[in-house]
Amino acid sequence: MSLNLPFPHRHLLGIAPLTAPEILFLLDEAERWVALNRAAAVKHDDSLAGLTQINAFFENSTRTLLSFEIAGKRLGADVVNMAVAQSSVKKGETLIDTAVTLDAMHADMLVIRHQASGAVQLIADKVDCPVLNAGDGQHEHPTQALLDALTIRRRKGRIERLVIAICGDIMHSRVARSDIISLQKLGAHVRIVGPSTLIPPHIEALGVEIFHDLDKAIAGADVVMMLRLQTERMAGGFIPSLREYHALFGLTVEKLKLAAEDVLVMHPGPLNRGVEIDSAVADDLKYSAITEQVEMGVAMRMACLDVLTRQRRGVKGWA
Ligand code: ASP
Repeated sequence: MSLNLPFPHRHLLGIAPLTAPEILFLLDEAERWVALNRAAAVKHDDSLAGLTQINAFFENSTRTLLSFEIAGKRLGADVVNMAVAQSSVKKGETLIDTAVTLDAMHADMLVIRHQASGAVQLIADKVDCPVLNAGDGQHEHPTQALLDALTIRRRKGRIERLVIAICGDIMHSRVARSDIISLQKLGAHVRIVGPSTLIPPHIEALGVEIFHDLDKAIAGADVVMMLRLQTERMAGGFIPSLREYHALFGLTVEKLKLAAEDVLVMHPGPLNRGVEIDSAVADDLKYSAITEQVEMGVAMRMACLDVLTRQRRGVKGWA
């Protein structure tokens, strides 16, 4: 693939391999799908007509799976969801064998979510078509970071120099990792905050400022991003109790007053109301961009599917 292309990557496996101009290129591409998605009736483009998109989600998902499915369908692709619970994976098939099987069906795009960090890369190495990482273990969730950047840029007009506080279970969150990498590349100042048990070691190497006090972390922040406690990835007791966690790290209307007056509140979902965020904050449309994040997710994923298949579709300048 020519290195002169604005997006010279075969796959979208993470934010780490991308440059700031490549990230901005994807955000710009997504902008044009926002209007199509808002059309009153027909929301369809046939850019991907005739192409087969397989969504293979080895881990549960609501919004990401639906979002990728809608994105593919709006672009005219034939979208198939692999039902992992009923698949040969449950009969002991290895990940590599599953990958080879999907490849033999001549998929044109594979969208993969897997509970193991690195599993999506393993599949990408074995197949012939573009692979999009829809979340792998605690590693990366690149389309979430892209849709978050798009939401922030649309609401704030820029990302550079914004103070962005990412709060909660940083340790188990692939969203936090991808967001930190992307927002730093785009020039934001990123603070992270959580109990010390939920802050990964050596995270300062990513250039973030670390806090253990929510009030201090959100003081003057332009964006406050709350994260769910990822209990499914916790082997032991990382927090004393949910009540205590909420008292110390839950976002309430009172605490939000410490942030910038025009603060934007974000959350990748699913929300645990009353734990990391109160309903009064999550549902206040003056601050909350949570549903807008979901909306931008579809446009962002349309952009990713479109850009990654341009070469195989022979799009002028990409083939
Ligand atoms: N939906 C996001 C993810 O898949 C965040 C979460 O589950 O809390 O990582």
